[in-house]
Amino acid sequence: MSSQARSPRKRSLPTAAALKRALHGIDLGRVVRRLSPGETALYAAVVDPQLARRVWLLQIPMLPGPYAGLTLWRLVVIERWLEPEHPSALLAHELVHVRQFHEQGIVRFTFDYNKAFAAGLVTQRSWSKAYRAIPAEVEARREATRWAMQRSEAPRSVV
Ligand SMILES: [Zn+2]
Repeated sequence: MSSQARSPRKRSLPTAAALKRALHGIDLGRVVRRLSPGETALYAAVVDPQLARRVWLLQIPMLPGPYAGLTLWRLVVIERWLEPEHPSALLAHELVHVRQFHEQGIVRFTFDYNKAFAAGLVTQRSWSKAYRAIPAEVEARREATRWAMQRSEAPRSVV
């Protein structure tokens, strides 16, 4: 088939060559990866290593708005490159959400999270205040802070 015979819609799809050019230099093993055994041990204080081993980490520098991280069930999206050996309070925070999802179930966690957010929007009339007041966020911030402080007090005791 000649290229003239194709519909304009088909021609507008990216070609394999264009995709290859767009992905040039991007190591997909870094974009999407599992946590390393060292990482699951590193974050054991916030999430059980057995559960942490089931997490997919997607690292893309293009999350919307002010979000630096986002967790959906066992998918953690963070907007920066994290080397496995580099401790991150952001990742600790997101892993608390993985644990919350696991403990409460997708439906219950999502419902309670959004209900608290909606209630906060009504009472606080501020997107960021409502977000920060969600109990799951309060817990994740508290535990990630505690995790980071324990690391700074005894940096050699963890991994
Ligand atoms: Zn959070």
